[in-house]
Amino acid sequence: MAKIMVNTCPNCGANLAVDLDQICEFCGTAYIPKNLVSLAKMDSQTKHKYITSYKERLEDNKENIPVAVSLAMCHIDAQNYEFAFEILRKLAENNCSDPNVFYYMALAMLEGKKPRVLRMDKVRKVESYLNSAQVLSSGNGLYYIMQAVIKRDYYEYYLFNMHPGGSSRTLLETANNFNLDAEEVHQIIKIVKLDESDQRYFDSVLAI
Ligand SMILES: [Zn+2]
Repeated sequence: MAKIMVNTCPNCGANLAVDLDQICEFCGTAYIPKNLVSLAKMDSQTKHKYITSYKERLEDNKENIPVAVSLAMCHIDAQNYEFAFEILRKLAENNCSDPNVFYYMALAMLEGKKPRVLRMDKVRKVESYLNSAQVLSSGNGLYYIMQAVIKRDYYEYYLFNMHPGGSSRTLLETANNFNLDAEEVHQIIKIVKLDESDQRYFDSVLAI
């Protein structure tokens, strides 16, 4: 007999409705964290509860993309970049068309390092994931910001010729066409360890 799928709140264990984009009515915890900022703000005990809950949920259904992406985000938050990448890679191999899968793959592949310390082939891979995210999405300023990070800390740092997509400034100006969450932008910039002078440059160009 098929197992009945019940979503339970990762924090208090209360039963939740099928819709995952919701907040537990008992404790106010979001089943799916909004972004890496909301994860970073949680205490380690809550984070642990999320990871346990997501793992159980994925044992029931490996194809649950929002849950798999959330688990990958937890691993990125915990700097377990390889775990995060593996989860996302499997989703991508199964023809997943969620742009965030590719966006977080790019972030996980950077392993919390500056792009300039990576080998060229890795940088190219990061770029290809970001391109996939762009193609699959109807527009997200963060994807442009991540592309600007690569331009700034790799191509412009080493004074390499610009590749398609233009300079970091062009990309940041394009990002301004979207609703940007300042906290989220700063969290990403922190994860990829952008130099302080470049952080100031990003802040000066971005309308946040
Ligand atoms: Zn709850």
